[in-house]
Amino acid sequence: MAREQIYNFSAGPSVLPASALERARQDLLDYQGCGISVMEMSHRSAWFQEIFDAAKAKLKAALQVPDSHEILFLQGGATLQFAAIPMNLLAGGTADYAVTGIFSGKAAQEAEKYGRVHLAFDSASTGHDRIPPQEQLLLSPDARYFYYCSNNTIYGTQWHYVPEAAAPLVCDMSSDILSQPVDLSRYGLIYAGAQKNMAPAGLTVVILDKALAGQELPCTPQIMRYQTLIENDSMLNTPPCWCIYMLGLVLDWLESQGGVTGMAQLKRERARRVYEFLDNSRLFHPHAQPDSRSDMNVTFRSPSAELDEEFVRGAAARGLLNLKGHKLAGGMRASLYNAMPMEGVTALIDYMKEFEAKHHV
Ligand SMILES: *Cc1c(COP(=O)(O)O)cnc(C)c1O
Repeated sequence: MAREQIYNFSAGPSVLPASALERARQDLLDYQGCGISVMEMSHRSAWFQEIFDAAKAKLKAALQVPDSHEILFLQGGATLQFAAIPMNLLAGGTADYAVTGIFSGKAAQEAEKYGRVHLAFDSASTGHDRIPPQEQLLLSPDARYFYYCSNNTIYGTQWHYVPEAAAPLVCDMSSDILSQPVDLSRYGLIYAGAQKNMAPAGLTVVILDKALAGQELPCTPQIMRYQTLIENDSMLNTPPCWCIYMLGLVLDWLESQGGVTGMAQLKRERARRVYEFLDNSRLFHPHAQPDSRSDMNVTFRSPSAELDEEFVRGAAARGLLNLKGHKLAGGMRASLYNAMPMEGVTALIDYMKEFEAKHHV
């Protein structure tokens, strides 16, 4: 099947805007008359420095990053930050972690190596189907930071408010960054693996309040020390050049679509349509509690694992790809990131209707 006939619901790496890929194709062998590809350039060249600075400036503008905060373009995935955050910010103290899914659970486990982790909430007992309201968060008085993951990619839940805590907020925004405006002045640090909603895999964006850097554990590797990375403008070593270039192209597209405000309207509408169908379905059931539902990853299942499998297979046959749920969650997952067109949502719902009519008894 050709790209035009496909809707890619992958949770990550995931769909990118076709216009960004087109521009990358034009530049692939010869970047704007340089005679070489971005992949072949020195990261110390003036050409690349320009790409780097532009991508950083575009991201700063798109997210209205305050001057108090620094943008870092790193490697190691979101997962490396599970360790980098406590090494830099916890340093033997206590931090509050709200565990509302697999990734926040992993982050809490990693942090235990570097200080005390206090669980502010844990939704494991209900299959990570909910986000706690503010009054259910157990905050410790001496916390160095409050950690949470704004969108639970695997189980399909999402925080629809910014938690209040005396300590700086630290947030894993891997699967909902750039999908809505965010007041970064309220955060000590946010981070995101790029492959969900920003760029190809290989880039991690960290945005942190510079005042928090420089208090790391002495054993912190140089390459994970925020202060050093800030001082070297993310170029202590070779940065993920190609991904940073791609991020710039994606941000151009984002701006043309109304920026994060435009994205917020679209994502709400995409998710609203799918949940509306699910709420009225006699075959499918959504996983997340209604007030905790994710706009980015919609998780649902049919009455049996066999039907789930048939659904996913039939979907792929008509170009609706990657609808299988994460192996830990089972069922189905439709990831509706920024680059998913509304036509993809319509095609998904049409297929679900057809499948339901065929299998409902
Ligand atoms: C995918 C994901 C991760 C892991 O990202 P890697 O870049 O593979 O390390 C962490 N947190 C969230 C919320 C994710 O969606």
